[in-house]
Amino acid sequence: MTRTLDYLLDRNVAWSLAKTRDDPAYFRRMAEQQSPSYLWIGCSDSRVTANDVLGLDPGEVFVHRNIANVVHTSDLNILSVLEFAIQHLRVRHIIVCGHYGCGGIERALSEERSAMVDHWLQPITMFHRKHRAHFDRLSSRTALLDRVSELNIEMQVRRIATMPLVENAWSRGQDLHLHGWIYGMHDGLIRDLGPHVSSIEERDALPSIDQRVFHAEEPASGLRRHALEAFGSLKLTDDLASPSCCMPDEH
Ligand SMILES: [Zn+2]
Repeated sequence: MTRTLDYLLDRNVAWSLAKTRDDPAYFRRMAEQQSPSYLWIGCSDSRVTANDVLGLDPGEVFVHRNIANVVHTSDLNILSVLEFAIQHLRVRHIIVCGHYGCGGIERALSEERSAMVDHWLQPITMFHRKHRAHFDRLSSRTALLDRVSELNIEMQVRRIATMPLVENAWSRGQDLHLHGWIYGMHDGLIRDLGPHVSSIEERDALPSIDQRVFHAEEPASGLRRHALEAFGSLKLTDDLASPSCCMPDEH
């Protein structure tokens, strides 16, 4: 039986040496006080690590993760993280980032109700039950899971926006922006779903999460919007914009 994890400690030494070789000042910088501009609230899924998917060094993003990126307003853990991030680190952006293919969302929509995690996921389960008639009209199980994943993110952003901690920050004029994002496991890309909220007025102007359920949007709305924007910003060369092979014969 392996009683120690020496192979992991060996990997750590190799990593530290490689980092130092590539950037001799790396650990000197890391040892200084952190001053990240971002708080990331994401899923515990081992495939979605904030620093990796954002391409950021340690120290650049403050991170809180839990199953299905749920914000419980009585959760001391997330309340402490939010307080520290807002009042001490003075982050400018709070990002709730969920992901497609989330096992937590799948569990919340299942009939299984036998574990602690089912208490944790209760808000998602109840939200799905409340709008079941609408969700049942979606074309497939995948479409359902994608849509609930997206709406769950929107719901959590709204919850953060109603917290006294956040309201107080806005009331004293602190520059603080909330964002809802979703990550695609299949391509490594993040989609900006919204909502974007930067003030009490913007929060109060948002449609309720129940209204959002009936918004006529395709299940993979974030993915579609992102793709359209990406294609829209492409600068096509003349050859690409008018491929000769496809042009009608002018003769
Ligand atoms: Zn997940």
